[in-house]
Amino acid sequence: MKELDMTGIETPVALSSIPKFESQNSSISVNVTVYEGKELIPIYTSKFCNQRPHHANLMLLSKGDNFHYTLVTNLSRLVGGSTHHNGMTFVCPYCLHPFRYKHCLQNHLPECSQHPAQTVTYQEEGKNILKFDKIQRMFPVPFALYADFESLHLPENTYTVAFVVRVYQNFPSMITKFTRILETVSYRNF
Ligand SMILES: [Zn+2]
Repeated sequence: MKELDMTGIETPVALSSIPKFESQNSSISVNVTVYEGKELIPIYTSKFCNQRPHHANLMLLSKGDNFHYTLVTNLSRLVGGSTHHNGMTFVCPYCLHPFRYKHCLQNHLPECSQHPAQTVTYQEEGKNILKFDKIQRMFPVPFALYADFESLHLPENTYTVAFVVRVYQNFPSMITKFTRILETVSYRNF
């Protein structure tokens, strides 16, 4: 603790004080994750990830108004339980997605680091269906046109680099068009 500059920062350190901590301790970056609803959710990701000599992954544990940080020493093991992969993975500190290969994570990081901490959530069953209900935004049309374009998906080449990459080409095979003149003016959305 003697080496850390905690000037003006109360302990336990609130999440909102972590940017101040990082600005006062220029060799350290910090990420914070919580475990909620059986999911790991990154709630604070440092903009200095992979740029500073020391990085700390913390998990925030809370009960009521009390909270405590615990150090995560191995993100791969923490995230590993949610994957089918048995070996070590390379985990994105921003979205906690585990990658099998280090170069895949390195390709992913420049894009993912542009965004704040994020996680994927899905709507509950029963609330996960979208329906068109903006009838007032539809336009009247005298006919309807249905078209379908089919192609054959044929393999072209196979390359072996670090792993197998299959290249396919789409060959057009059929085009179908069906025009229906509507007897009464119907409404279609565009
Ligand atoms: Zn990511």
